[in-house]
Amino acid sequence: MKAKKARRTKEFLKISRKYEPACMSWQAPVVWDHAQGAEIWDVDGNHYIDWTSGVLVTNVGHAHPRLAEAISRQAKRLLNTYDFPTPERLSLARKIIGLMPPHLDKVFFVSTGSEATDAALRLLKRHTQKFEVLAFWGGFHGRSFGPMSISGISKIKKSFGPLVPGAIFAPYPYCYRCPFAKEYPDCDLFCLGYLDRIIEAESSGSLAGLIVEPYQGTSGFIFPPDGYLKKLEKWAVQRKLLIILDEVQSSFGRTGKMWALEHEKLEPDVLCLGKGIGSGVPMAAVVTRAKIISSLKTGEMSSTTGGNPLSCAAALAVLEIMEKEKLVDKAAKNGEYLKKKLDRLKEKYRIIGDIRGKGLVYGIEFVADKKTKKPAPGVAKEVVLKCVAKGLMVGKLGIYGNVMRVAPPLIISPELIDKSVSILERVLSEL
Ligand code: PMP
Repeated sequence: MKAKKARRTKEFLKISRKYEPACMSWQAPVVWDHAQGAEIWDVDGNHYIDWTSGVLVTNVGHAHPRLAEAISRQAKRLLNTYDFPTPERLSLARKIIGLMPPHLDKVFFVSTGSEATDAALRLLKRHTQKFEVLAFWGGFHGRSFGPMSISGISKIKKSFGPLVPGAIFAPYPYCYRCPFAKEYPDCDLFCLGYLDRIIEAESSGSLAGLIVEPYQGTSGFIFPPDGYLKKLEKWAVQRKLLIILDEVQSSFGRTGKMWALEHEKLEPDVLCLGKGIGSGVPMAAVVTRAKIISSLKTGEMSSTTGGNPLSCAAALAVLEIMEKEKLVDKAAKNGEYLKKKLDRLKEKYRIIGDIRGKGLVYGIEFVADKKTKKPAPGVAKEVVLKCVAKGLMVGKLGIYGNVMRVAPPLIISPELIDKSVSILERVLSEL
């Protein structure tokens, strides 16, 4: 294999170091130039297969012609009306509600995932007139103060306190590293039973509800065991707690269903959508019941760019593409194919401790030793860098920084899956 060209990359990275802060997430040293479908080219013309989708955003694939055309057409027509309705926003609202479980009948558009989870918190508090929220260890809901305060990752909150009061945290079922050192299913979901003890010890009696991700993205693609979320929902309903399901990352086909809630027929009171909704155009939404959102009166919630015609036109095109190209079914089918290949790598390589996921989102957790499960962030970094050098665009994340992200655009073909997995396998075999 030829060595990668890097002249322009070096120049651009120098500019980045000079003018940009170092606070963004760590990435392999690549400057993206353009992309098409599930393939990327950098500023030196080097080619990569994409396992990032940006950050699980470009679900319909990069530069999809239908999406590009919708954006371009809308840009020439109308860009901002603030809260005046537009045909684009109304078509999108009708379409999204039509795809929801029947009890969710109102949608409010915003621009980012953090804005959606923040709005969801405000809804919860206003509607219940209570201020406490149960959230989970390892949960990530965004970087602004509301969502950050209910995120269960200490490094994102460091020195930013005092945070918004009312967050109560409970362990999420990270079964590979069970905080109670139990084994599923023998544990009988001990962590779920433990919730009452946490509330008993910590709540001042003002618990409004809970917020949960269907799988924890930022913490390392941690999937709860099947049935856990439905049982959690039952637990909350019995205690008259509202449920916010944060599908900013898992929505729009990522897990092989349009919404991750479909896997267990969940019925959240508030649903947060983001990322894939615009497939690259900033867009997010909060979906809820009329009864809940009517607690907010005229002028009590709005957003300068939320629901703008450009983002709405993009989201409409995304839905059309997903439907036409059957991307949800494709994600489920090609995801199975990918998972089988990844599972084989787990059997073969001692540094892979766990592989978990659904549809087209998988985490590969690297460990120093399969028995001790000691996290190996250095190995994860080395694998990422070597994959990128060989033409596979990947990133890493996780509480311990040792999980490789496998999240290609949903349009990835079996041929590109074959090619990408063989790049990873080559890297693993040469370690
Ligand atoms: N919730 C979840 C589950 C997320 O994964 C993210 C982003 N990683 C957010 C909220 C925040 O979204 P944004 O970065 O668009 O504000």
